[in-house]
Amino acid sequence: MPKQLRFNSATIHGGQEPDKAYGAVMPPIYQTSTYAQTTPGGHQGYEYSRTHNPTRTALERSMASIENAKYGLAFASGMAAMDAVLKLFQPGDEIISTDDLYGGSYRLMTQIFQKYGLKIHFVNMEKASTVTQFLNDKTRLIWIETPTNPMMKVVDIRAVTALVKDHKALVAVDNTFASPYLQQPLELGADIVLHSATKYLAGHSDTVLGLLAVNDDELQEQLAFIQNSSGAVPGPMDCFLTLRGIKTLHLRMQRHCENGAAVAIYLQQHPKIEKVYWPGFVDHPNHEVAKIQMKAFGGMLSFVPQGGALQRAINIVNNLNIFTLAESLGGVESLAGHPASMTHAAIPKAVREKNGVVDGLIRLSVGIEDVQDLIEDLDQAIGV
Ligand SMILES: *Cc1c(COP(=O)(O)O)cnc(C)c1O
Repeated sequence: MPKQLRFNSATIHGGQEPDKAYGAVMPPIYQTSTYAQTTPGGHQGYEYSRTHNPTRTALERSMASIENAKYGLAFASGMAAMDAVLKLFQPGDEIISTDDLYGGSYRLMTQIFQKYGLKIHFVNMEKASTVTQFLNDKTRLIWIETPTNPMMKVVDIRAVTALVKDHKALVAVDNTFASPYLQQPLELGADIVLHSATKYLAGHSDTVLGLLAVNDDELQEQLAFIQNSSGAVPGPMDCFLTLRGIKTLHLRMQRHCENGAAVAIYLQQHPKIEKVYWPGFVDHPNHEVAKIQMKAFGGMLSFVPQGGALQRAINIVNNLNIFTLAESLGGVESLAGHPASMTHAAIPKAVREKNGVVDGLIRLSVGIEDVQDLIEDLDQAIGV
């Protein structure tokens, strides 16, 4: 591609060219583990599929293109991608992480990497300056998830990055909830972007895959070394499905955002709903940052029914018909989740509740169906 493509073209063409063998317009699924060599070392850039695979290369280039990055790296899952990032560090190194976090990310840090000597501080970063209280000469990584899961807090990426500019620390952003359509963390000063492509990027709830995007040559080399050494790579079929998903990311996101806004406003006005967490509301504590940092407010939101009791929340999710009760998010279909017993069950109750994840909290991933059907479904479930 001769010129830098705009986002809505990069999703379709970024890093991809018709295949050299037969001109296939879609990157073929190279379902092979190895590649013929004409003489030892005489290969065409591919030797073994843990190290490289042409379908994976196409996806990695696509990731780079839509995050405005120099490099993309693909992994077997979002957690495998995060695992690779955390393997950059040594025992004694310190990490400062957002406190309201995907349950699996919290588990990976506390139950796996703490064991290997990483020290992790979980911090509410709604006020960026809070980070400075935990910064020291051992700090190597700032881990930001924004918007956060499931409380929808928004962290000012540019402000946090500016604070650590003079430290040896990298800034990584889990961009799963926003997707690059809404926010591009590298542009805001971050060093690493992570995606659970399982969610919005693949977008059809049919693949588990993780992606990283970076600009720095040395960082890319270190991460590619870990990717190849640890071997948590995705298969070519999953790379293909993710590539296909990315082609409609901008269209899907546009509708996710419209439907998300309509559902948030509906819930906000409902007399039986106590609280709705969605960064698009002007009285959301981080609304101003969200407005600047994000193109729109996304399709994720959480709410607490009146009284906030466990049984009330369970009754509501059990009575939904169009919203499916399931973990995960970001697919074309609407999903409802109960964080306390599902995605965030790995987080101790006391820690969970301190962050607002009460037993009554329900999280919605608003899909791209007709929004009137979604509102009617919620209406009957809440009315019961
Ligand atoms: C799902 C998710 C992950 C983990 O990704 P997997 O692909 O399930 O391993 C990480 N961060 C966030 C915000 C997620 O929603």
